[in-house]
Amino acid sequence: MKIGFIGLGIMGRPMALNLLQGGHQVTVWARREESMQPLLAAGASGAASPAAVAEAVEVVVSMVADAPDVEQVMLGELGVATAAREGLVAVDMSTIRPAAARDLAARLLAKGIDFLDAPVSGGEVGAIAGTLSIMVGGTAAAFATARPAFACMGKNIVHVGDSGAGQVAKAANQIVTGVGVLTVAEALNFAARSGVDPARVREALLGGFAYSKILENHGQRMLDRNFKPGFKSWMHQKDMNIVMQSAHELGLCLPVSAATAQMYNAMVGSGLGEEDSIAILKLLERLSGAESES
Ligand code: NAP
Repeated sequence: MKIGFIGLGIMGRPMALNLLQGGHQVTVWARREESMQPLLAAGASGAASPAAVAEAVEVVVSMVADAPDVEQVMLGELGVATAAREGLVAVDMSTIRPAAARDLAARLLAKGIDFLDAPVSGGEVGAIAGTLSIMVGGTAAAFATARPAFACMGKNIVHVGDSGAGQVAKAANQIVTGVGVLTVAEALNFAARSGVDPARVREALLGGFAYSKILENHGQRMLDRNFKPGFKSWMHQKDMNIVMQSAHELGLCLPVSAATAQMYNAMVGSGLGEEDSIAILKLLERLSGAESES
């Protein structure tokens, strides 16, 4: 299949590489020329704009940052919609507000483009391995068209419901992972400040009800003090903001998410925004009076 890919960052680069490895003809665009180089070297074609990508393909995927970025590449000057034609399917895999995804779907449909929201979970590791969990909102027909592309990038591919449903699932995912990273950091900091080896505590917890993938993977990276992103803290702040905005629109009480969102605000405010979200451990250490950190 001819597939376009827009946005070649931590996630987008390996996802596009997996499409190539799956035998698809891939056309890419990134706003910085150097981001395109690894894909061109692997056999992808380069395009001069999102519109030029859309002209060459049947399915166009975006993996950028937030809703204004998706709007820009889809509906902006030289955006995908300017090359609109019947049958084109646009898939956004970034994490954005469900309401923004529904709005984009309606505006793109008015131009003849069927739009899917298809955010992912599984991190950079899952993007490289092609084992992402993909949560899809939109029509069954568009889902069927895009499915061969999803199959190269993910393992657990769920058509959750209509437009916006994929982003609702992703926001729910970010409640669990945002709170989870914070609780793992709290537990390891608690162990260390109690004078007990946090590595042994993690090992003990892994066999019981406290087990989680976050304790296993993120917990190990906390012990290694490997704060290289991964998933940047400002992105997790964005996602907790999506959760809180949606809760506000719905009049929902999400007390644990609200407290967690404040911690991610504080991470960005304390200069940790470009570090991985596990650097929340550093924030807890500072708040607990740690004298030095690395
Ligand atoms: P990233 O490394 O910052 O990559 C985002 C890419 O999008 C960058 O290359 C950026 O270009 C490009 N971009 C952003 N805004 C753009 C715009 N307006 N026009 C053109 N290009 C634009 O971020 P990432 O970690 O890959 O995350 C991408 C999306 O996936 C986000 O929505 C994030 O929440 C979600 N996500 C991330 C993870 C993870 O573990 N990293 C996991 C699940 C979901 P520049 O390089 O020029 O800035």
